[in-house]
Amino acid sequence: MAHINRRIVGPYCWKRTNKSVEEVIAENPIGKISAISSCPFIYKIVDSRATPQGDGMFEVLFSVEPASPDETAVFLKWDWSPNADRGDQAMWTASDLRQRSWYSGIPVDKKLFCAAHQKLMPAHGGNLYDNAFVCNRCVEQIEMAIAQNTILDPQTWINKHAAISMVMNKIDEIEAHGHGNIKLGTRRFIEIVVLYEFIRNSEYKADAVIEDHYPYKDMVPTAYRGYLREDWTPDEYFNAPTKTIVFTSRNKLVDFLESGGKVPANSKK
Ligand SMILES: [Zn+2]
Repeated sequence: MAHINRRIVGPYCWKRTNKSVEEVIAENPIGKISAISSCPFIYKIVDSRATPQGDGMFEVLFSVEPASPDETAVFLKWDWSPNADRGDQAMWTASDLRQRSWYSGIPVDKKLFCAAHQKLMPAHGGNLYDNAFVCNRCVEQIEMAIAQNTILDPQTWINKHAAISMVMNKIDEIEAHGHGNIKLGTRRFIEIVVLYEFIRNSEYKADAVIEDHYPYKDMVPTAYRGYLREDWTPDEYFNAPTKTIVFTSRNKLVDFLESGGKVPANSKK
């Protein structure tokens, strides 16, 4: 039975003048272990085809499945000996987890809640640290930090990142709606109104990240107008803001929220 994560690589058009179908197939033989950027795992070829198109051109196509952990270790030349680089080993630990989850048959679109990102993330290569599940991106960072002796324990790292992620996720949510309230303390809120920029005709469009979750097509958030409201909760009738603060970048809004709502010194009344 085919592996659940079997996929097709190609088709490619290759020029192989004076070569037979068998010779072209032999370039991608069944059983070969390899990697390609469009495939998220180290693969093993399970079926290989080459179709002559005339003039020495071939349409090349092969089916692949995730390679086993042992095959992957040999292919990537992992070295777990004590004199190998600890940083490399940290990255290999993360790759090994990722490969094992593809190999074990976790489906391509499976997501799990990452305790550090505080949202659903791709499940492949995630790991448990003290019963907290984190995604593979976080595993890489935790393993690297352990290798470099920059953290005391994974749980401290996860808690710190969870706090930052909650701020980031809240801003994402507000960007998706155009406005929203963030609690700063007891009866103290900042209401954020997102200002968007129209970028469809911008010559810088290629550099811009156009996220489809923003409420307006071809618009990206550029600034945030914040209305600081004190002695108020969002379910109460209108109350004039104590202060209006314009955040000219997402980073400035993040700084403000991470400080617990400390008003910038130069802001106007
Ligand atoms: Zn994560």
